[in-house]
Amino acid sequence: MHRCFVPTDRLRLEAFDLDEAEARHAVQVLRLGPGDRVALLDGAGTLAEGVLEQTGRRSARVRVVGRSSVPAPAVPIHLLVALLKGKALDLVLEKAVELGAASIVLLETDHGVARVPASEADRKRETWRHTLVEASKQSRNPWLPELVGPVPVVAAAATARESGDALILASLAADTRPLGTVLAGLPQRVPGIRIAIGPEGDFTAEEEGILRSAGALAVDLGPRILRAETAAIAALAIASEHTRR
Ligand code: SAH
Repeated sequence: MHRCFVPTDRLRLEAFDLDEAEARHAVQVLRLGPGDRVALLDGAGTLAEGVLEQTGRRSARVRVVGRSSVPAPAVPIHLLVALLKGKALDLVLEKAVELGAASIVLLETDHGVARVPASEADRKRETWRHTLVEASKQSRNPWLPELVGPVPVVAAAATARESGDALILASLAADTRPLGTVLAGLPQRVPGIRIAIGPEGDFTAEEEGILRSAGALAVDLGPRILRAETAAIAALAIASEHTRR
């Protein structure tokens, strides 16, 4: 069944219009019309089913016929990832949704190659959000991760410390333990897990120091050097399996 993203305040209603882009896609591309069913999700835990009532070239009215709430993961996993270059970041955003990350915090790092000038930040955020929404529709994840940043490492470290979450640093240093071992040793009642992944050129010693001073546990993801995007995806897969209810 075709899936449409609908803001929460609208999805609460019995009947509503889809956004123009969603309507055009449903009507013009998929040739859906009155009587056809669509799945609806709002990114905040609601999954619903709707029936198209009236359609125009750019509009579609939907009536909700069933609604359910999916609980958020018991232990939210937050991905702190360096602002990677375009394609790599898109990949990470998409996979983070599929693997159920609660938020993605983009980090400004010294060795990061990508930069977002202030003048472009809003447009970039729109594109990133679009990627997240498409991935949530595709993966049927009714929880859209929050997108934070780009923020400096020092700010992300401070937030992590205040949150009380377990902070984990994916590191190439010599003193790491396997991620799975570290997760198994965490207290049962940890409110959340934050995993930091460095840029293509790795964290600097200073950035690692900032994260470690904020309580980060240094982990490895095996004996090989992974690309940042691989490291992010692998770490999320391991952590999401660990926190599965
Ligand atoms: N350019 C660096 C590699 C950076 S990898 C070099 O060649 O040495 C980018 C990021 O992925 C790192 O900062 C780290 O957070 C993560 N990463 C990659 N491989 C890893 C591994 N085996 N264990 C833990 N983290 C890893």
